Amino acid sequence: MNKSSQTKLAADFDFQSSTEQALAYDQQHIWHPYSSMGKGNEINVWPVASAQGVYLTLANGTKLIDGMSSWWCTVHGYSHPRLVKAICEQAQTMSHVMFGGLTHEPAINLVQKLVQLTPSGLDKVFLSDSGSVAVEVATKMAIQYQQARNKAGKNKLLALKQGYHGDTLGAMSLCDPTTGMHHLFTGLLAEQYFVPAPKVCFGQDWLAQDGDRIDIQPLRACLEKHHQQLAALILEPIVQGAGGMRFYHPEYLRQARELCDEFDVLLIADEIATGFGRSGKLFACEHANISPDILCVGKALTGGQMTLAATLTTEHIANTISEGEAGCFMHGPTFMANPLACAVANESLALLIENDWQAQVRRLEQGLLQGLGPAKALAGVADVRVLGAIGVIEMQQAVDMKVIQQACIEEGIWIRPFGKLVYTMPAYVMTDNQLAKLTAGMVKVLKSGLF
Ligand code: PMP
Repeated sequence: MNKSSQTKLAADFDFQSSTEQALAYDQQHIWHPYSSMGKGNEINVWPVASAQGVYLTLANGTKLIDGMSSWWCTVHGYSHPRLVKAICEQAQTMSHVMFGGLTHEPAINLVQKLVQLTPSGLDKVFLSDSGSVAVEVATKMAIQYQQARNKAGKNKLLALKQGYHGDTLGAMSLCDPTTGMHHLFTGLLAEQYFVPAPKVCFGQDWLAQDGDRIDIQPLRACLEKHHQQLAALILEPIVQGAGGMRFYHPEYLRQARELCDEFDVLLIADEIATGFGRSGKLFACEHANISPDILCVGKALTGGQMTLAATLTTEHIANTISEGEAGCFMHGPTFMANPLACAVANESLALLIENDWQAQVRRLEQGLLQGLGPAKALAGVADVRVLGAIGVIEMQQAVDMKVIQQACIEEGIWIRPFGKLVYTMPAYVMTDNQLAKLTAGMVKVLKSGLF
């Protein structure tokens, strides 16, 4: 039968009365991140019924302390009353309008805050729907800028190995070529340039580790050779997230900024994960006291309540693009500057400042150092590292995600390891006791050696 002629919708599933059926339907029909739908390859998903503060409540009533902040986002915890109120009030006034030819208070107020809070010089803002799109926008800005200067040959990007910038085609071309699975999309993905990931770690002695030779020299050599083809260098400042949870030395970033200027290549900072305090600075670029030419933010921008991202650039770049052949910047998503998302982002940024994010993150950093420290002594652990509100236990071998997640749930905690990395980035509002329970649970599970 033609589906469109069916007028009666199927009854909704209800976790209370039919969790099993709902999960079976989910397994048959719904893709989850990086999941397979093939028979026998089904992935485990846990049904979550509600989320409040730092807790997730599963359909069976199990309460879990969330160690992931839903992938770096929910810095103020779930269902924060001020954020919920901001969304509700905005929904009553105007949930959405097109941004072509129209504007609104939530967008203007948000942009004013972003211009004020981000590193200096970034005062032209493009709002979009997700981190990956913000990276696409940044790339297009860099390319249009070079075209407008009659440097159309500068149409490639340089990226760091072990980096991650998103899953759309343009963003994917900038991810680590191996873990980013470039070979699956050969011919379609843009071919970009890559340099090795910086080796000198945050907190190490740059000179003693010979950072200029082992880290900067390869970057300089690549820029020297290819700068005529390069529009921009893109990197995640200080913290390489999904590509390995690596914390690198600020001197690398400082010198990368200088090299970009020397070789007439723009610097794009992807702060989608690190933005809004996570690394201990409001923006990780501040660890090196630099401003990029283009900055991408997302994730925690709305406190994790709605999807929203922004790409910021300088007046010079914006003006140059406007003087180019197109006469304008060529991008304009349907949900650009969605008022609901902008309103909740405004409130989230206000909360960040009122709550003294710096003190919150400093407290979490101490708690993570203390709580995860004992993992160093465990068999199978390669490294334990903490920066700001990010705690990482790197194992010697990849862990079995399904087994380890089940064990964590039994400890009342939610984390989602990948590969060798068992890590957490808690909400800034997590109390010392909650954090102690989270870290103790992680250490206990790793000690059990079950996975
Ligand atoms: N850049 C970085 C550094 C990220 O961590 C992510 C998301 N993990 C992205 C870009 C892509 O963002 P999104 O998933 O919102 O598209």
